[in-house]
Amino acid sequence: MKIAIIAHDGKKADMVGFLLKHKEYLKGVELVSTGTTGSHAEKAGLNVVKYLSGPLGGDAQIAALAAEKKLDAVFFYRDPMDKHPHEPDVQMLMRLCDVHNIPLATNPATAKLIMDALLKENC
Ligand code: PGA
Repeated sequence: MKIAIIAHDGKKADMVGFLLKHKEYLKGVELVSTGTTGSHAEKAGLNVVKYLSGPLGGDAQIAALAAEKKLDAVFFYRDPMDKHPHEPDVQMLMRLCDVHNIPLATNPATAKLIMDALLKENC
């Protein structure tokens, strides 16, 4: 199970809360992330393979994993109230999740639904 986690700056605290809530399950998952989100995950006590920071190409790197069908789910807490210089990369990632039918949560409510399903699968 390989899961990507990404959070825009305005949503990083929410992402950390989500990660902490599901820490035990996530310890058994291979986590990959954009750079700064990954640093937050590490501070929360999780092991994560960090790629570049989002604005420097990290979302594009995660998108490449999606293109290669190497991801089982993507949790991407987007901040719809802010502008992002790397929006084209974000669009590419979301498109490739759709191309390859990869579960993609772009807000906490959807993340909860996907996580609930993963936890159920794990029982
Ligand atoms: P970051 O990138 O984790 O390096 O902040 C996230 C993003 O903005 O896509």
